[in-house]
Amino acid sequence: MTTVAAYAAPAAKAPLERTTIERREVGEHDVLIDIKFAGICHSDIHQVREGWGEAIFPMVPGHEIAGVVSEVGPGVTKYAVGDRVGVGCMVDSCRECDNCRAGREQYCTGGMVGTYNALDKNGEPTYGGYAQTIVVDENYVVRIPDGLALDVAAPLLCAGITTYSPLKRWGAGPGKKVAILGMGGLGHMGVKIAHALGAEVTVLSQSLRKKDDGLKLGADHYHATADQKTFEDLRGTFDLIVSTVSAPLDLGAYLSLLKTEGTLANVGAPEEPVSLNLFSVIGGGKTLAGSMIGGIAETQEMLDFCATHGIGAEIELIGAAEINEAYERVLNSDVRYRFVIDTATI
Ligand SMILES: [Zn+2]
Ligand SMILES: [Zn+2]
Repeated sequence: MTTVAAYAAPAAKAPLERTTIERREVGEHDVLIDIKFAGICHSDIHQVREGWGEAIFPMVPGHEIAGVVSEVGPGVTKYAVGDRVGVGCMVDSCRECDNCRAGREQYCTGGMVGTYNALDKNGEPTYGGYAQTIVVDENYVVRIPDGLALDVAAPLLCAGITTYSPLKRWGAGPGKKVAILGMGGLGHMGVKIAHALGAEVTVLSQSLRKKDDGLKLGADHYHATADQKTFEDLRGTFDLIVSTVSAPLDLGAYLSLLKTEGTLANVGAPEEPVSLNLFSVIGGGKTLAGSMIGGIAETQEMLDFCATHGIGAEIELIGAAEINEAYERVLNSDVRYRFVIDTATI
């Protein structure tokens, strides 16, 4: 075991503080990654506060990890010392179920191992990216192309793949009208990626406060959902809506904005159940769908796509001492558009 510095929440809802954790020795197929940057995802806050259920403490959050390989195990074939790499929301899975075999490791029926707040195959808790290093099996590591700076690449590992995967799956592209619901960390990536895929992109956000940014990032249209007129004007407009909102939504109102046989894909996860009158999907043959991150191969595909199109996240770089303040700002939607921790400050 190797002792490394990290930022952890000692208990549910407690502020994060500097501490040390143990990383396992580099095994046969492991790579040791010197973490350079770690994004702050809204789900870090959900988990630190046990909004999604009982969690494991101390918790070192962070599943938007960008760094450089500093050691490889003897059996590693994909990576070498000095390679620029990333780690997202999972660090292992069963590798045998239908989903793992199909490259959908995020839906592993044997249980994928989360990058933090999970137990690995040896029953040891996993610790995430708010730390100096991490040891990960090479099969759960992705390569960050040279054209992408590591700081703006870090958020792609969750926010990027979470929006890329449903946009691809439901055919965002030329001739398609796509709405991105929510203009936060996930939403701003959705706008950039949907635009790069060639779709006509509309942002649906609570207010018009971030309209200039949205248009600059690639949106063609921008509407406020607080304005009832938006729902009248845009009725029956979209082929696909990707909802990044993690607050309870009036799903029926958004389903009414879809064309016949359109899809509302949810990637945001509200803490409370939502209710729905099913006539809003039956009428028009609509699909209410969900999507969770993406598989490892698809995450690599997304990074390559982003490098080709010059897409990184819009970030505010912070020192580790500012994490707790950053959490408050995320909760107040006061971030443009992703906080990234410079892990040299841990
Ligand atoms: Zn995330
Ligand atoms: Zn599996």
